[in-house]
Amino acid sequence: MRNDCKRLEPALHDWLEGWLDAPARAAVEAHLRRCPACRAKLEAWQAVGRALRALPQLPAPAARLPEPAPEPRGALRLALALCLPTALLLVAFRAPIDAPSVDALKPSAVVQTLTRPFTAPAQTLWNRLQEVI
Ligand SMILES: [Zn+2]
Repeated sequence: MRNDCKRLEPALHDWLEGWLDAPARAAVEAHLRRCPACRAKLEAWQAVGRALRALPQLPAPAARLPEPAPEPRGALRLALALCLPTALLLVAFRAPIDAPSVDALKPSAVVQTLTRPFTAPAQTLWNRLQEVI
């Protein structure tokens, strides 16, 4: 393939599609008149185009699209709606917030925590909430 043929190849495609202006179209046609290799390439492209257009058109299969996943925004709003007032109450009443220790995260410790009566700060918070309500 000659260098001018390589440079012409994009324009050859554009010529085939009818996208070139008059000067560019004339340049491609002048090259095609003197270059059998590019004429052969163009004829091959045209043959492929004809073959593709001759294929039967099949209807698209009725695809069942997956149901869209529920948006997490509702859950996020609910979590914020629950967490924000709680955080404000904890700050307002200066309730101590301690990160749980590793031992406190053991299943047996969690069960003990859930089954024991309120601790003093939580009980104080609960009492204040009852006063407000
Ligand atoms: Zn050429």
